Amino acid sequence: MLIRGKTGAGANAVDIRIEAGRIVAINAADASLRADLGGESLYVAPGFVDLQINGYAGIDWNDATTPPERIAEAVRKLRATGATALYPTVITGSREHITGCLAALARAMDRYPEVARACPGLHLEGPYISPEDGARGAHPAQHARPPDWNEFRRWQDACGGRIRLLTLAPEWPEALDFIERAARSGVTVALGHTAAAPARIAEAVRAGARMSTHLGNGSHAVLPRHENYIWAQLAEDGLAASFIADGHHLPPYVLKCLLRAKGAERSILVTDAIAAAGLGAGRRRLGDVEVEVSDAGRVSLPGTPYMAGSVLEMHRAVANAVRFAGVQLDEALSMAGPNPAKLMGIDGESGSIQTGRRADLIVFDRDACNLHLQILATVIDGETVYKNVDANQEC
Ligand SMILES: [Zn+2]
Repeated sequence: MLIRGKTGAGANAVDIRIEAGRIVAINAADASLRADLGGESLYVAPGFVDLQINGYAGIDWNDATTPPERIAEAVRKLRATGATALYPTVITGSREHITGCLAALARAMDRYPEVARACPGLHLEGPYISPEDGARGAHPAQHARPPDWNEFRRWQDACGGRIRLLTLAPEWPEALDFIERAARSGVTVALGHTAAAPARIAEAVRAGARMSTHLGNGSHAVLPRHENYIWAQLAEDGLAASFIADGHHLPPYVLKCLLRAKGAERSILVTDAIAAAGLGAGRRRLGDVEVEVSDAGRVSLPGTPYMAGSVLEMHRAVANAVRFAGVQLDEALSMAGPNPAKLMGIDGESGSIQTGRRADLIVFDRDACNLHLQILATVIDGETVYKNVDANQEC
């Protein structure tokens, strides 16, 4: 297979040759050769790696009864957004509920090779988070609790050891020991939904924490102006940080400041999407909760100003980062693919355009107003798994 495209704004097009699922050669575009995908004026990038996603297209994996075939359906539909790898995220709940959700995801990965291939691991966000209002976000306070290594081991057993990313609040007395153990076991530990003092953030990093989860969200509405956990995490070079760039969770000017402070190399874009994502505007029933999705993609509880999640898709997050924060297209693409791949240690196989790497790639175009990325094709292991049949140039 031959894919042709530019690898960034201002770059010249290259020809990427793929054999047996891997990139075998990268050369300047040769117009005398016929490309199977892409073209001189189009773009090619590593597929997106979403570290935080709770569901998609009406399919919710924080519901333990969601059958494997529905989880597989969501994974397939996400290809249209450029996602070639995702870490399905299970949030705070009772022990039994979390066990059920993790086991359901593991069953889907066992039954469907394409789901196992798309999901290098699972993200457990909670339940070892702050019970404080504001810091806990939408996580239920009654289930927020201190880290418990034996409980965590049982959850790993329930899903075949697939939890690779864990978000916790480091202020619990048990947290530093827990972070050390988790890191030693190969789990990437992230800080989030926390009310920790700045000194505690530094201790957590020394213990092995490596990322801030959706920095700037899952936080109190009012904070001390200097001594707070947002500044402390921003300044901590040992922490990468993920951001929800939907224009609602962080005002564009805040996203701009956060991305500049954390830097292009340490910033990661996540969708944190809920099951209402991918369905468009309107009222949606998700389990016991009704949410309203506005035309602008803001999710709220009907009749209230309260946000109830995100319906962001990764190709839109990339376009938003460029538009809101003024970062270069190449930098935004890195935040959505290579940076998370590197953090999770899967970059040796995928997550970059280099010879020898698996061909997990997207081909896309930018509209005339630079507001959108239009995903034209998604390739996993050198196989075209999504093709946009009605592409247009509208913006
Ligand atoms: Zn969260």
